[in-house]
Amino acid sequence: MAREAKTKPKLLPKDYKSKVKPTWCPGCGDFGVLASLYQAMARMELDPARTVVVSGIGCSSRLPFFVQTYGFQTAHGRVLPVAIGVKIANPALTVIAVGGDGDGFSIGGNHLAHAVRRNPDITYVVMDNEVYGLTKGQTSPTSPLGFKTKSTPYGSSDAPINPMAWALASGVSFAARGFSGDPKHLTDLIVAGVEHPGFAFIQAMSPCPTFYNTFDLWRPQIEALPEGYDPGDRMQALSQVFRDDGIPVGLFYRQERPTLDSHTRVTAHPLREETEDFDVQALLEMYR
Ligand code: SF4
Repeated sequence: MAREAKTKPKLLPKDYKSKVKPTWCPGCGDFGVLASLYQAMARMELDPARTVVVSGIGCSSRLPFFVQTYGFQTAHGRVLPVAIGVKIANPALTVIAVGGDGDGFSIGGNHLAHAVRRNPDITYVVMDNEVYGLTKGQTSPTSPLGFKTKSTPYGSSDAPINPMAWALASGVSFAARGFSGDPKHLTDLIVAGVEHPGFAFIQAMSPCPTFYNTFDLWRPQIEALPEGYDPGDRMQALSQVFRDDGIPVGLFYRQERPTLDSHTRVTAHPLREETEDFDVQALLEMYR
């Protein structure tokens, strides 16, 4: 009698939780983003042994500790170069970069435009709370004009940057915005981002209830992109991200073009021609 083939047990969102409990303040928006990530990973059945979550520094950059995959917390602002390096070293891995608005748009800001140009097949989720939380509430690159903090007691005189406009103007191949208060929708966006062959930029509006509680401010403004919206039209996407009424969420833009790792796959390491698996021992032998 033929033996029944063993089926691989399906991974559930809880299977992606590590033993490290999140250390965020109660009610932090980043919990919603983490929940969405667990859901997205389970929906795509990502193999934890072939998934790497990379972060920079900040409250949201603690996230890799809470996920049962490979992880790497890098220096402040350096999430993208490290994530891209991981992907180039082994294109078979799923690489998800995470971080906050300070990490990604201030000290790490220059990396965004160049990551976008190179179009590596990675996903970058920025938890944007418009404030520095880890260092106890200073203005960040996305803080609104006039924002009063201990570092700006008379109100910030710096205009906020528009991360979506920045990514779109730099030529990003996937741009989406979600809200941590709607984890189901954010899950859909993360799945779409990871499945997109190229650099997927996701701005996750994720309030910091401790230093700038925007849940009540943002929730009534969050709305879907208008009916008939075409995510293949970059100019339409730009007109939506520059709107000053409401906070539109959804998939703003998607375009398929060659990725950095598809280029390096054929031009780089000879070991990769034989196998998709990164053979550390063989590599060490080569350089011995
Ligand atoms: Fe979250 Fe703000 Fe607390 Fe940081 S300080 S964990 S961003 S609520």
